[in-house]
Amino acid sequence: MPIYNFSAGPAMLPPEVITQIQAELPSLANSGMSILEISHRTKLFENILNTAKADLRALLNISSDYEILFMQGGGTAQFAAVPLNLVTHSKKIAFIDSGYWSMRAIQEAQTLGFTTAILASSQKQNYTNIPKLDISTPLDDYAYLHLTTNSTIEGLSIHAIPNNLKIPLVADMSSNFLAEPYNINDFDLVYAGAQKNLGPAGVSVVIIKKRLLVSYSNITSVMNYHLTAQKNSMFNTPPVFAIYTVGLVLKWLKAQGGVAAIYEKNLKKAQLLYQFIDNSKFYTNNINKKDRSLTNITFTTGSSSLDEKVIQAATAAGCLNLKGHRSFGGLRASLYNAMPLEGVLALIDFLTTFEENNR
Ligand code: PMP
Repeated sequence: MPIYNFSAGPAMLPPEVITQIQAELPSLANSGMSILEISHRTKLFENILNTAKADLRALLNISSDYEILFMQGGGTAQFAAVPLNLVTHSKKIAFIDSGYWSMRAIQEAQTLGFTTAILASSQKQNYTNIPKLDISTPLDDYAYLHLTTNSTIEGLSIHAIPNNLKIPLVADMSSNFLAEPYNINDFDLVYAGAQKNLGPAGVSVVIIKKRLLVSYSNITSVMNYHLTAQKNSMFNTPPVFAIYTVGLVLKWLKAQGGVAAIYEKNLKKAQLLYQFIDNSKFYTNNINKKDRSLTNITFTTGSSSLDEKVIQAATAAGCLNLKGHRSFGGLRASLYNAMPLEGVLALIDFLTTFEENNR
């Protein structure tokens, strides 16, 4: 029985990548050493890191105005690193609140003593839609505007990015990075934890406009963007294995035809599942249609005990990790780049049978 892993993260990786890791694990490039034991100060690793950066640059058309950084501490560390590096002259930070992870970014900035303002929020609608930013709002008092392109827990996405803001735009792209074609030029800083669409847990990517790389002496070194850029993401020991795997995933994505090609596949996968849910009288998804996420599809039977039954039966049928986030409940299928169409078809088959047996 084929097994499909619908986890929101760490999430499934392309099987080809796992096979390659397995083949290369004892001895990387005939070095006689495993990737798990090589020093980051070797030419071998420097090539791996620089190739990963170059491949990412090519995949996202990242111009030379931007630097690419590999950092640790997940998306959560970036909730702190962004304000620490970007807020100057005691300015406030503006946020669009589209879900749990937006709020976590806001709380982290507040913990550090920064002043935050939520310019748009859909909390009152239980995050069933992307809140509208009033573009006439004066932004001069703010250091930057932060948004979350994909709300992993609720299952909604900002597909149209606000532009001409006159202040830097920062995006947490953790859960739809490389899954849909955003234009990096619309942002001043983008960050994403790898463990959904890009690789294993342990590394995050930061894409930052070079003009924002200001040298500060009062930021802890591992969160200092300027220092990280200056040292080519190797101020201290980087997560060697995670960066190596990111490199393999990027090569895999190139072989798939890049972001535009994978986006077409992602659209098809998501449309199939949403169509199934919308046509069913048993499962529901109440996210505003145009704001629906392609990568995290939330749904429910309306009963927590029946949802639990779905999860148990799905596990037995090879469809793993359909449990919604502990703060949100319900069901969630994460369809990142590595999830094949067959996985979605298997899930729909399972959900159809479950509905027939439990109606
Ligand atoms: N932002 C988003 C959108 C996320 O989905 C997550 C994790 N699920 C995070 C931030 C936090 O990431 P981490 O656990 O790597 O700190």
